[in-house]
Amino acid sequence: MADRVAGPEIERLIQLLARLPGLGPRSARRAALHLIRKREELLAPLSDALVVARERIVTCSSCGSIDTSNPCTICRDVRRDSSVLVVVETVADLWALERAKVVNGHYHVLGGTLSPLDGIGPKDLNLSNLTERVSDGVKEVILAVNATVDGQTTAHYITDILKGSEVKVSRLAHGVPVGGELDYLDEGTLSAAMRQRSIV
Ligand code: ZN
Repeated sequence: MADRVAGPEIERLIQLLARLPGLGPRSARRAALHLIRKREELLAPLSDALVVARERIVTCSSCGSIDTSNPCTICRDVRRDSSVLVVVETVADLWALERAKVVNGHYHVLGGTLSPLDGIGPKDLNLSNLTERVSDGVKEVILAVNATVDGQTTAHYITDILKGSEVKVSRLAHGVPVGGELDYLDEGTLSAAMRQRSIV
């Protein structure tokens, strides 16, 4: 073990940064040094932003997303199509769809997927108010879950619990990614793309 090169405060900063996704110990050291060097331009505003985030960010009691208000900005936005409800696994997925500007409805964030192997059941997901939300004028529920086994298990479960309602339930198509070459795709993706082919 190498001797310490800095005091415990700096070590702690590095250790905390190393817990961020995508940052290992080496990049955490670089990030810490960068922050310390840019104390006024970066470290100070970052620490202020962290304090604000800690104090003001809440989970929306309607959709399960995060924001600084409850209900969140999206739930309060009257310009959105309230007949469309997009079900996503995580807030990151919601943000990805918003970046792509592909849908102008409302969202429902599950907070994960059903995973029997990991002991994650329906009670562990944000499902308690889903049918209630759907009965409130929603015409289509779009299941925008990941194309993983757990994602598909979750999609089946939600389709089942919505069966009694009038709502149309749709799922994202699986298949060839934009810019993708057929030769590089796995058989599962190719067969899904073939099954879900569309008329041009
Ligand atoms: Zn919301």
